[in-house]
Amino acid sequence: MRLDDPIRFLKGVGPRRGEILEKAGITTLEDLLYRLPFRYEDRRNIINIGEAASGEDSTLVGTISGVREIRPRGRRRVILRGILGDKSGWVNLVWFHQAAYFREKLAAGGMWLVHGRLEKAPRGGVQIVHPEIEHLGDTDDASAVARVLPVYQKPTDIPVAAMRGMVERVVDACAEQARTVVPEPLRESLGITSLAEALRYVHRPPRDADIEELASSATPAHRVLILDELFALQVGMSLRKAARRLEAGISMAVAGERIEGFFDGLPFEPTAAQRRVVAEVAADMERPRPMTRLVHGDVGSGKTVVAFAAALQAVAAGYQAAMMAPTELLAEQHYATMTPWAEREGVSMELLTGKVAAAVARRVREGVAGGVVDLVVGTHALIQEATAFAKLGLGIVDEQHRFGVMQRAALKGAQADTLLLSATPIPRTLSLTLYGDIDVSFLDELPPGRTPVVTRVIRPGARNKLHERMAKAVEDGRQCYIVYPLVEESEAMDLADATSMAEQLQAGPFKDFRVGLLHGRMKAAEKDAAMRSFKDGELNVLVATTVIEVGIDVPNASIMVVEHAERFGLAQLHQLRGRVGRGARESFCCLVAEQGQSRDSFERLRVMERTTDGFEIAEADLRLRGPGEYLGTRQSGLPAFRAANLVRDEELLELARTSAGAWLEEDPELASPHSAELRRVIEQRWGEKLRLAEVG
Ligand code: ADP
Ligand code: MG
Repeated sequence: MRLDDPIRFLKGVGPRRGEILEKAGITTLEDLLYRLPFRYEDRRNIINIGEAASGEDSTLVGTISGVREIRPRGRRRVILRGILGDKSGWVNLVWFHQAAYFREKLAAGGMWLVHGRLEKAPRGGVQIVHPEIEHLGDTDDASAVARVLPVYQKPTDIPVAAMRGMVERVVDACAEQARTVVPEPLRESLGITSLAEALRYVHRPPRDADIEELASSATPAHRVLILDELFALQVGMSLRKAARRLEAGISMAVAGERIEGFFDGLPFEPTAAQRRVVAEVAADMERPRPMTRLVHGDVGSGKTVVAFAAALQAVAAGYQAAMMAPTELLAEQHYATMTPWAEREGVSMELLTGKVAAAVARRVREGVAGGVVDLVVGTHALIQEATAFAKLGLGIVDEQHRFGVMQRAALKGAQADTLLLSATPIPRTLSLTLYGDIDVSFLDELPPGRTPVVTRVIRPGARNKLHERMAKAVEDGRQCYIVYPLVEESEAMDLADATSMAEQLQAGPFKDFRVGLLHGRMKAAEKDAAMRSFKDGELNVLVATTVIEVGIDVPNASIMVVEHAERFGLAQLHQLRGRVGRGARESFCCLVAEQGQSRDSFERLRVMERTTDGFEIAEADLRLRGPGEYLGTRQSGLPAFRAANLVRDEELLELARTSAGAWLEEDPELASPHSAELRRVIEQRWGEKLRLAEVG
């Protein structure tokens, strides 16, 4: 048997099981070999049945009698019951599923090892539901089976023991074929064992294994497997990055004086972080290869200044720049912000969105094609109808996560530099991995003089007081947002929420004010109009869904209320909160949450009360939700991990990164025989995905 054999070749896997496994993503023997246990059961401590206490996982040995099938009235499914006993006592056993399978199995009689959680039975006594059983035969010597057992994530239709058996057979037959990608010299210096040994250990832990270490994937064997995976990823990412370094690009000289002049003309002093990031971008643009750089900066950190400085450098070098924003309003906002800057700097700037009149748009496109327009700001109208640039040097993508990979690629041009702006802070280590193939700058400082937004988590019961507070703010000339969640599957219901709430509020607590509505089902023009009248101060209160999330700037808005806050991720709440606190006045953010079923989901929101630091919130969010959910779509640009967990394995990630760097210094082309397996795996496992990550 070979690792790449289809799973159907495995003994015990017929066509039906084969299909079930394939649906669960297990198509080859290798897939099964790397399906690591997600937890372990400790069956080393066998106790007397009479001593077993309810609420505990227990391992017991005894005979099973009174096995019978029962069909509860009105139910179609049959239940299987039995009684496990030894000299000291007895417990009930119950199977709700696979009754026939277990009845047949139990017919063997004799002694059994039984493992499971004891609980009080509804009609007195104690029971174990869906116990795991192992046949001992006519001996009560359980030493052969009293061990630590792996538990696998598996399709429901496959019994636990069958799944375990299949993995065991693959381990026996194929573990030896597993080759580590870590080159031997490096393996020696890191002191790590072979992959085969590691696989055998995690699938079949020895009797003296440390159960805590196993449970937290911290055994040396786990570490070998994790490092193997992360090492390949890091090398792959570095190779992509290196390949890009070799591409021909444009060298645009650093325009130090022009940029200093631009800074001098600003009504504020740039922050140290802005200066640093501008310098990083500038040096990168000067290099004669296409730049792909992501600027991570919290809401309000001043990314527009950085973007304009970069555009200025392109223009000074005789090239054009384009800036793409996800909405018309944002594009217009950027255009308005940059107009005085462009005038002062003698940069000819135009706006190009779907709203721009056809004749004007045509004129702008001609200007862009003819090279008279230096900087064009717009929405995807910029890329939708082929806008030909005379000499595009720099494409800037604001709120880059709002665009698809292809859209970003479209603005990239052949050799032009790309600057991606993101207001979604993510933890550094994670970002260095996720974006390991591009360059990242951190704009990690907010301009001084901002009053942090005061944040409170409240219960729905306190809403009346909140409305009073909002009414008072409106009377003082301020504006407020109220946001409702929008969950895809129940979009209609949430819409009704936002819509009916807007009506209720208008009729009730805010009857003297103007309440507006903004939601995702509205036409772009309607959305735009609503946002615009809020911005112009015509509306006092804006009831909205999360469509307002992206960088809109209404400095007069000072209260942000989020209803059903428990349904949002922390990072998203942070984005929403960033809509207020943009003026000099103190702002207030109120998260209304049901305590509901889960106390955790309420307590989690307290993080928002404690800090306004986006990076800190991102860390907390990541810890609470795990990388899969947290990363959302971006995760799909990465290979799925088999052993590693980007949050848990931060330290190994670092080790993988430094080791990968060191190895590539030694063998940059992966030409050494030691790199053979590494090269094969990167090509095979990650080649396609890594190519996709290319455009950032
Ligand atoms: P971001 O896009 O990063 O959320 P913006 O570029 O929209 O942030 O800037 C937010 C606000 O901060 C704007 O009103 C801008 O004029 C202001 N600003 C930017 N840099 C500074 C600075 N160094 N000092 C004071 N205010 C600044
Ligand atoms: Mg912005």
